[in-house]
Amino acid sequence: MTSGESPQRDEASPSESRQSRRRFLGDSATAAVGGVGAAGAAGADETVEGELPREVWEERMTAPNDGKRYGWIVDTRRCFGCHGCEVACKAENDVPLGHFIRQTIYHDFECSSGGLARVMVPMACQHCEDAPCIKACPCGALHKGAGGSVQVDYDVCSGHAACKDACPYGAIYIDPVANQAVKCHNCTHRVDVGMEPACVATCPSEALYFGDLNDPESDVSKLQKRLAEEDKLETLRPEKGTKPRMQFAVDESRPMKKWEPKVPREGASYSPEAYSVFNWGEPEPEADNDG
Ligand code: SF4
Repeated sequence: MTSGESPQRDEASPSESRQSRRRFLGDSATAAVGGVGAAGAAGADETVEGELPREVWEERMTAPNDGKRYGWIVDTRRCFGCHGCEVACKAENDVPLGHFIRQTIYHDFECSSGGLARVMVPMACQHCEDAPCIKACPCGALHKGAGGSVQVDYDVCSGHAACKDACPYGAIYIDPVANQAVKCHNCTHRVDVGMEPACVATCPSEALYFGDLNDPESDVSKLQKRLAEEDKLETLRPEKGTKPRMQFAVDESRPMKKWEPKVPREGASYSPEAYSVFNWGEPEPEADNDG
């Protein structure tokens, strides 16, 4: 079974042979981890910490040939911080208290008038094309599913948390009961039957767009084209080289480099403290540079 599906449900598309192959690779990877430790492994050009040898993850990094390329646009100019996406995601996916598949971060800006302005940014897995979580997974669970969505195979995941340590965006948590990795899976159980992800369907401000970027008639493709022409699109931490499938429309008065430090990094997950009113008076993390 894959992310977002109930524990009894089988994965929608991979064949038995692919699953067997994944288990074999998982066993190999576990052995490799035992041999090389946490540092980068045998691949000649691979020195990223936690990354396993290419032969362990290469097949899992390859998406099914379904002609689709699922992606996201997050319009930070439209989000007003209702947290409806978080609530919908929690309800849809039975996310327990204290854990999050998606979270809306915020950052306060001083206005030239002397007041404060708050930017809200809905955040979740970036469904990276070159996903570090897949490269780090020693049991073979993290893989590409339909449209290139990054998925977890729960018949295989054994809670190593190497994926969590590798994710540059803090998008994974380890379920404390099942001891398995949990992340956004693009609501595959909905998308596969023609529905939108729960967060998209719930967002009252139309800040979230999801769809097939290979389809020029999809809303997300049309919006991506227009925003790219206006030079409004940015990706999160491009220096990580992950090629995220999520792009952010950003207002130049509230630049990404200011709010980006609020997004968790490797080894972290979204925190229940992130939006606590009791933290509102505390200093904000330092941005990397001025803006
Ligand atoms: Fe994996 Fe993190 Fe990228 Fe999602 S954002 S695909 S969990 S590395």
